[in-house]
Amino acid sequence: MLQISIVVPLYNEAESLPELCSWVDQVMQKNQFSYEMIFVNDGSKDSSWQVIQDLSKQYSTIKGISFARNYGKSAALHEGFQKASGQVVITMDADLQDSPDEIPELYRMITQDGYDLVSGWKQKRFDPISKTIPTKLYNAATRALSGVKLNDFNCGLKAYKLEVVKTIKLYGEMHRYIPVLAKNAGFGKIGEKVVIHQARKYGESKFGMSRFIN
Ligand code: UDP
Ligand code: MG
Repeated sequence: MLQISIVVPLYNEAESLPELCSWVDQVMQKNQFSYEMIFVNDGSKDSSWQVIQDLSKQYSTIKGISFARNYGKSAALHEGFQKASGQVVITMDADLQDSPDEIPELYRMITQDGYDLVSGWKQKRFDPISKTIPTKLYNAATRALSGVKLNDFNCGLKAYKLEVVKTIKLYGEMHRYIPVLAKNAGFGKIGEKVVIHQARKYGESKFGMSRFIN
């Protein structure tokens, strides 16, 4: 059985993908993890899908799913989860804001500490204030309503037991509430790990101010 499946939803992230693949592969080699990298192309309009196909010739670990149009991050994660087969499933964003160096400790927390889900906590966050203030309110509300004691529900970097991703159903904007869905599905051992967060290197956020207008 594979040790790790990495699921990466992406929309117009062509420039980030080569660097992401080589960084992930370095970390996996160094730690001697068996892994697969599942890219879910969420209807990108740039060359992302071509780049994934090219990279898959270089890395035998890469698998891809491509949507004919943009269905959103939840739908992309859902399809990636269906395909995943690793003992531990890691989700991360494609834009290099999440660090692959976090993966070994996340893996350890699932396999040795026995967590069902470990959610990244971007304690020091590199995003504009138009994102960080609404996020604070939303985290406080979600914490109060759900009883799940996390600081950062919507961090793209998370680790799961395989059974968890095969059980929860994601659609619409549900990716913002994954720990709550997991808890409701009976997976109560939910942890948090402070993770390094970086400013976006290429392209722009797909969840900027426009999300308040749409
Ligand atoms: N994403 C996606 N479908 C969308 C919007 C975003 O798959 O409709 C991906 C995006 O490419 C990235 C991740 O979801 O890999 C997080 O998006 P983004 O970095 O834009 O969000 P932010 O970090 O600004 O909250
Ligand atoms: Mg981002």
